[in-house]
Amino acid sequence: MNIINTSLIRAAMLLSITGVTLKSYAQEDNPAEKKTVVAAKQYTQEVNTLANKVSVKKALQTIVDLQPQTLADHILLTEIPAPPYKEMVRAKKYAELLKAAGADSVWTDNVGNVIAKVKGRTGKKTVVLEGHMDTVFPEGTDVKIVHKGDTLYAPGISDDTRALAVVLTVLKAVKKADIKTDADVLFIGAVGEEGQGDLRGVKNMFSDKGPGKIDTYIAVDGTDINMIVHRGLGSHRYRITYKGPGGHSWGSFGLANPHYALAGAIHYWVLAADQFSREKGVRVSYNVGVTGGGTSVNSIPFESWMEVDMRSESPERLAGMDKLLQDAVQKALKEENQLKRFGADLTVDVKLIGDRPSGVEDPGLPFVQRAIATASFLHAEPKLGAESTNANIPISKGVPAVTIGCGGAAGGFHSLGEWWLDDKKAYIATQRALLLLLAEAGVSK
Ligand SMILES: [Zn+2]
Repeated sequence: MNIINTSLIRAAMLLSITGVTLKSYAQEDNPAEKKTVVAAKQYTQEVNTLANKVSVKKALQTIVDLQPQTLADHILLTEIPAPPYKEMVRAKKYAELLKAAGADSVWTDNVGNVIAKVKGRTGKKTVVLEGHMDTVFPEGTDVKIVHKGDTLYAPGISDDTRALAVVLTVLKAVKKADIKTDADVLFIGAVGEEGQGDLRGVKNMFSDKGPGKIDTYIAVDGTDINMIVHRGLGSHRYRITYKGPGGHSWGSFGLANPHYALAGAIHYWVLAADQFSREKGVRVSYNVGVTGGGTSVNSIPFESWMEVDMRSESPERLAGMDKLLQDAVQKALKEENQLKRFGADLTVDVKLIGDRPSGVEDPGLPFVQRAIATASFLHAEPKLGAESTNANIPISKGVPAVTIGCGGAAGGFHSLGEWWLDDKKAYIATQRALLLLLAEAGVSK
């Protein structure tokens, strides 16, 4: 899960700085989203009928009974480190657990996703239930759980290891209750969801190296059972490096200076980007996050670089912001090359280091309606929202997808102080994942 900054705080800051009205920002933030949503009657009825089937009732009760085991799996998996690009050890254990839970087949794909298949009656559709295995924490981070009362502290314990335990328990419940779905179901532990991973696990699933056509995608990420992510917050990230010959500040004075070009690029981009982001339309952000380069105060640097990030739910707005960056980078390059008195021209390397596509789903989509109805059935208060999660990829491809929470109370995401607590209601999120999966996959008996 990539946490979004509260846009209202930002809007309020802009208001105090510039005196612009809050109205357009509030409109983009869509306060309607803070409200609880209700599913159309047909889906409420459908979920009621489903939940009252004997086998489904049994599976729901199994989830209650399995709580100690779910917690044990959760703890076991949390204490196996899974740094970015190094999920293998955790993946191996997860594959064993899925196999032991009764999946028909379990395999690890070419990028390291663990995929467990349960064959459906007809197999005409394929539904995915997924949690991500990777954490943001580098190799060597202590992931041993510290218990303080009932609260469990460990990096990655909530994001997203709890989801792995949830996905596993749903599989166990399906098997123990002897439920046969119509659709094939894939229970997945994905690699590469977090920042550096750039969604490489889910991207692979939707490539020609994936497990075949996926019709519906349920990502479990974040803890809030009320939250239904049905819109993908897209982002582009770049590392931009200007390069030149470099030299002595006195002896080689007159050479092109990469820092001047970088400064120009930032200046031109920010001027244009700020204007663009204030225009009416879907919210779009821009940020220069890191800069670097240079060796000493009396040297003309041989390189100057920055890392930038831009985000929007709208592919068009994201593309617009991206174009402004590209134009600014080229304009600044040209200017610095005109300014230099001798020596080689500067060059620029523009490297895309993150690409998460955006997308929006109609809340009326049957799958989104089922996500709402299953939450309401369990007395949650469903709300619709946008996030940057694995669901971005299917949503951007028009494949129905949502991200739902894994339950419990939690905090300190992406920090060493990350914690998780079973608030005695955590199992309800697992029941919800089961119901949503079954609603979508179909249960004939
Ligand atoms: Zn996450």
